[in-house]
Amino acid sequence: MSSLAEYKSYLSDYLMQYHNITNLKKFFHCLNPEHTDNNPSMMFTDKYNICKCFSCGASYDIFDLVGMDFKIYNFRDKIKKVEELYKGYVPEYREYKPEEQLKNDYTNYYNKCERDINKSSYLEERGIDKSLIKKYHVGYDEKRNLVVFPITKYCYFARSTINSTKLKSKGNSDIWNKDLLDNSENLIYITEGIIDSLSLETIDPNIKTISINGVGNIHALIHTIKEKQFDGTVVIVFDNDAAGIRAVKDLKEELTKINVNSFSTTLIANFDDAECKDINKALITNRELLEKNYQYFDSCFRIIIDKRKKEKEGDFEIE
Ligand SMILES: [Zn+2]
Repeated sequence: MSSLAEYKSYLSDYLMQYHNITNLKKFFHCLNPEHTDNNPSMMFTDKYNICKCFSCGASYDIFDLVGMDFKIYNFRDKIKKVEELYKGYVPEYREYKPEEQLKNDYTNYYNKCERDINKSSYLEERGIDKSLIKKYHVGYDEKRNLVVFPITKYCYFARSTINSTKLKSKGNSDIWNKDLLDNSENLIYITEGIIDSLSLETIDPNIKTISINGVGNIHALIHTIKEKQFDGTVVIVFDNDAAGIRAVKDLKEELTKINVNSFSTTLIANFDDAECKDINKALITNRELLEKNYQYFDSCFRIIIDKRKKEKEGDFEIE
């Protein structure tokens, strides 16, 4: 069950879908049936998620409009109606406005951490290839006991070497290694965490892999894919737990909407250890088996992609 505030945020979509308002930054005709508004004088504001008429003073949120449009008078029934209209609806990913964005430049911090990376053996203990630590400028914050993964100059992901704390720098959340999305020829493996991606790259140095840094970040991924107009194929290899499985379903739905082909698989289904829920644990416990699984699935995906391509080309010949 979502919160009322979240429902209220659907107003922008509701105005566009149910009232044919195409530009929410412009005034539109007042929705108050009592007001004949010849000069558009109603305005939407995403600050309060209401629309307000500067002529008659009427002000509506999504519940008011749903009530008026569907002739519902009881607030609880209005909520139900919004739920019904937006069942499974995912609000569009909104970028932070520049003034909200905390643009700390972490370059100096990264450099210092990178110099100290040898003071921690965290990644080696997790079977990560040393060359990758260098390639991705992974560092170690000795004071805070953190392994630091730069994502951009302004954004990093870090995890504690002494407990299970994971943290992300303030500001916009970004996708690790997202430049790979610039090339639509790529078959891209999407993981939940950077260490999973590094685990895969350890067994296949030629793999293209990106990480979303937590299942809550799938909208940032969709946003990035749209922005880069990526139309290759992705393989989703999230954790084999409840949150991961749900996220795969959500992400696949979103990818379908934007016509991006995707596969999803677990590379660790046949691991004996029931505790083995992520790719890195698999790498540590049985690297050979992980490699075998990966090679098997990877060749399957490539065969399917080739077949689809040929079918497509065949279609053109017939035309
Ligand atoms: Zn009005």
